[in-house]
Amino acid sequence: MLLRARVVLPLSQPPIEDGFVRVVKNRVTTVGGWADAPDEPVIDLGEVILLPGLVNAHCHLDYTDFVGAIPPPKSFTDWIDAIVDLKAEVDDAAHADSWRHGADQCLRYGTTTLGNIESRPDQLPHLWLATPLRVVSFFELILFKPESNAAQAVEDVESWLTANLPPQGRAGLSPHAPYTTNADLLEACGRKTRPLAIHLAESADEHEMFCHGRGRMFERVASAGRVNSDCGFNSPIAHAAAHSVLRASTLAIHANYLSETDVKQLAKSQASVVHCPRSHEYFRHEPFNEADLSKAGVNLCLGTDSLATTCDKEAELSLFDEMRLHAASFPSLRAETILRRTTLNAAAALGMGGEVGGINEGAFADLITIPFGGNVAGAVEAVVRHEGPVQAVMVDGQWEVPPPSLAARE
Ligand SMILES: [Zn+2]
Repeated sequence: MLLRARVVLPLSQPPIEDGFVRVVKNRVTTVGGWADAPDEPVIDLGEVILLPGLVNAHCHLDYTDFVGAIPPPKSFTDWIDAIVDLKAEVDDAAHADSWRHGADQCLRYGTTTLGNIESRPDQLPHLWLATPLRVVSFFELILFKPESNAAQAVEDVESWLTANLPPQGRAGLSPHAPYTTNADLLEACGRKTRPLAIHLAESADEHEMFCHGRGRMFERVASAGRVNSDCGFNSPIAHAAAHSVLRASTLAIHANYLSETDVKQLAKSQASVVHCPRSHEYFRHEPFNEADLSKAGVNLCLGTDSLATTCDKEAELSLFDEMRLHAASFPSLRAETILRRTTLNAAAALGMGGEVGGINEGAFADLITIPFGGNVAGAVEAVVRHEGPVQAVMVDGQWEVPPPSLAARE
């Protein structure tokens, strides 16, 4: 299949005016200028930018139907209490519906690969089949009581995964956060070679718990049975590093409260950091330390987080909304830097560099288009400013949202 577009934005190489992408089965074989296109039938996509499907590095699809349900809390710990209450009301059918609604929204807004935290593995085999999205599923592990057998819990997930792999995408582990795990669980996860995703240094409450051994979160988890003898002397980042979960295949989710030493430690570990702009704004966290993390060479990417961290009842899982807010919060950032954070950088963070997030030889044919009648020089800026759904979506060589010219023919 040969596709032609006014602008092709491969990301892995400079933008191409009047470009083509050749797809064979589910992979890209060639990308270039129209003058060099092979002589074969073409689908002319017309006045559009053709770019790789976006990569959302962090989400909780199962919270999609909680959109706008929690007003901005006084503290992060209060939000945790609220989400625990909401989750207690959810039965199997509601969980599956919410997960699917989220997956549909992601696709409509041009996300084709998603790093998702999974709290209900029993439902996953049929959910994976219900979406064409490439899902990197991180299995959430919450376990902190001293009597629990963390090593066994991790082995149970591993043996489940040997029998149930995602049809496309990958599977990893998500020890939820330092405050909902104990050292045994972190170390058991650290011994596995799978990708890891962990919420780290997300809130002031977590910072206070680990750095000073006190505060709302400290009290809250102590009352639930966590032995907090590991608190009061280490930052959450140092805590994660000391228990072997900070490494190159780790996705550090949020990383909002960081010291200079934490930034250095993140850089040294080669872990990636995922920033979720709308969720960050909802919690009114301290400003995200974009400049120091970038300067230290940390791989930064963007995610949507869930819709349980927004007050806007109309909000949907759109990385374009995240990019626009990120651009507004950091006006000196180049549009290209922002777009890399939802494509190449996020793909690398999920261990899928070269396969998704760029249009290059051998990459999966995961492609999207947005309408565009401008000059090639303004194409990246136009993507970062885009609002609303995308015009067309291809995943694995199949049109999931066909371009208007093909849709009209059907
Ligand atoms: Zn999260």
